[in-house]
Amino acid sequence: MTAQRHRRLILLGGGHAHIEVLRLAARRRFTGGEILVISPSAHSHYTGMIPGFVRGAYTESALTIDVDWLTRAAGGAFQEGCAAAVAADGRSVTLENGDVLECDLVSADVGSEPSGLRDVPGLAAHAFTARPLARSRALAGAIDQAIARAQRRDTAADAVAIVGGGGGAVEIAFAIRARADAAGVSLPVTLVEAKPDLLPEFESAMGRTAGRVLRNRSVDVLTSAKATSVTATEVLLADGRLVPSTVSVWLGGAAPVALTRNSGLPKDALHFWAVDSTLRSISGAPVWGAGDCVALRDFPWVPKAGVYAVREGPVLAANLRAAMTGNNHGGAVTYQPQSSYLSILDTADGRAIMRWKGHVFRGRAALWLKSFIDSRFVDRYRQGS
Ligand SMILES: Cc1cc2nc3c(=O)[nH]c(=O)nc-3n(C[C@H](O)[C@H](O)[C@H](O)COP(=O)(O)OP(=O)(O)OC[C@H]3O[C@@H](n4cnc5c(N)ncnc54)[C@H](O)[C@@H]3O)c2cc1C
Repeated sequence: MTAQRHRRLILLGGGHAHIEVLRLAARRRFTGGEILVISPSAHSHYTGMIPGFVRGAYTESALTIDVDWLTRAAGGAFQEGCAAAVAADGRSVTLENGDVLECDLVSADVGSEPSGLRDVPGLAAHAFTARPLARSRALAGAIDQAIARAQRRDTAADAVAIVGGGGGAVEIAFAIRARADAAGVSLPVTLVEAKPDLLPEFESAMGRTAGRVLRNRSVDVLTSAKATSVTATEVLLADGRLVPSTVSVWLGGAAPVALTRNSGLPKDALHFWAVDSTLRSISGAPVWGAGDCVALRDFPWVPKAGVYAVREGPVLAANLRAAMTGNNHGGAVTYQPQSSYLSILDTADGRAIMRWKGHVFRGRAALWLKSFIDSRFVDRYRQGS
């Protein structure tokens, strides 16, 4: 009988799929080696609840997942850090501080960054993004300052522009409107989307409903409007128009983070890691990935959304568990993305817009369901759950 080799698995990032890997490993430990988790923060934040946080409906702790605790529960070790590159053979990870960590298996669930972050003039200096949570916290602070100025009737008029017409951007627009309304302040809010319709990731009925409700709540909606630069007081559009904005929020799509771009692994045209349906790099190296940072070779239509990352978690866990022990006898588990999913957008007025199998509905029950699903999700990753 041969002794089993001790393997080291490095998990990069505390994204939606990795927290599920850790939760499952806590319930039934991985054998065959050690787990090291590397992420810039010991805490992850559930993005589905960020708009509610910006509105002031949730405290930070309500959407916080303690990845350090979860890692220890899984028998692993947590290290605060940021990975800069993964070697093409999957045998080492280079951190941003220059440290090189050797390993036998790597998995990345490092998310994405807003597209344009690196090349749109003025964006980095003048615009807020939603993540990491510190940026949402700063955004909420900037909105409060604008509200305070309006209450003091300072001469400088504030205005908010949100770039992006996806679900997160639409919810943030509602959240900011609600925060100003609650303070009794009239704050101009404009939503700027490059495509002809809002919510291009969903059927048009969802976008039409969101657009109607936004306009009813005095949010200006500009579609077919491509933002090209940001200053301290304006967002500039490709057709030359200027949108007044002293608080600009950039939520324009998903682009690969530096780690994904800089590692020598096969990528898709947009530089996301190309993985097969077992979530393993198509190079065959012992490298896996999930969530926004990967492109599924067999399902290129899958959008960058947390719901997919969540469902990838158990598949990733099964395949990493088998790879740790070297036991692949049953064959790797494959991921089959759901063709449709429940989506609910909080309109920050006690109601939500819900889409399920092509049907769109707006009401209080939809918000109740969203709150229930969101808090149940976070609770799954808490002590005593
Ligand atoms: C405001 C907003 C609301 C949204 N609402 C929804 C929603 O309701 N439903 C939905 O499906 N999607 C939603 N999305 C999209 C969703 O947030 C993303 O698709 C999802 O977070 C992707 O999950 P992930 O697991 O890939 O990565 P993430 O959840 O983004 O996690 C990435 C992790 O990797 C870490 N990390 C980053 N870089 C490195 C590195 N170099 N080294 C190590 N660790 C690193 C990060 O700190 C983080 O812990 C929303 C997005 C936004 C902006």
